[in-house]
Amino acid sequence: MAPDQTSAKGQLIVLTGPSGVGKGTLVQLLLERHPHWFLSISATTRSPRAGEEDGQSYYFLSKEEFQTWIGEEKLLEWAEYAGNYYGTPRQPVEAQIAQGKTVLLEIEVLGARQIKQTFPSARRIFILPPSVEVLEERLRGRGSDSETAIAKRLAQAQQELQAAAEFDHQLVNDDLDRALHCLIDLIEEGNQPQD
Ligand code: 5GP
Repeated sequence: MAPDQTSAKGQLIVLTGPSGVGKGTLVQLLLERHPHWFLSISATTRSPRAGEEDGQSYYFLSKEEFQTWIGEEKLLEWAEYAGNYYGTPRQPVEAQIAQGKTVLLEIEVLGARQIKQTFPSARRIFILPPSVEVLEERLRGRGSDSETAIAKRLAQAQQELQAAAEFDHQLVNDDLDRALHCLIDLIEEGNQPQD
């Protein structure tokens, strides 16, 4: 596997796709295999779920604090998703890229669209479920969201899936191991020094 030190400049990798598609699991597995890759910690106005800690899972902000961050241009992108705001803090991402690191964003589709403008060199990968039925099963299986929240996420997912073709790469998460290896290959391709 090519170590990151070979790349002159870090690359920004955006993983997007509907909630429940397995982006979070894929990112955690990527980081286990490549601990020197950097995962951006997002800001959000949603309430912490059981076990989530401020500054580790997310920066949990009030709506007012989030608005201030927007006003101060502290976010590389942000979006409203299922009634809450989510955004990527700009400074840590830029600092890690400048140090030559591979930086991962795990974000929803509206935010991933904005990254094309704010960070044109980013490579944006859309993760697809094998089917909408499987996605619904996964959302329910997490047991972490209310019926209303699940319904909102499913409705949003139907729209998000239509955007898949806009992105640089599409990857079906039908088998976790297969998807993980495809993802690692895609990322490492970009880490190769260019002639
Ligand atoms: P959850 O509430 O399940 O943690 O996240 C809901 C959705 O928001 C997921 O699709 C997740 O990828 C997305 N998300 C998390 N952080 C960010 C962010 O910083 N920006 C955007 N645009 N979406 C995010």
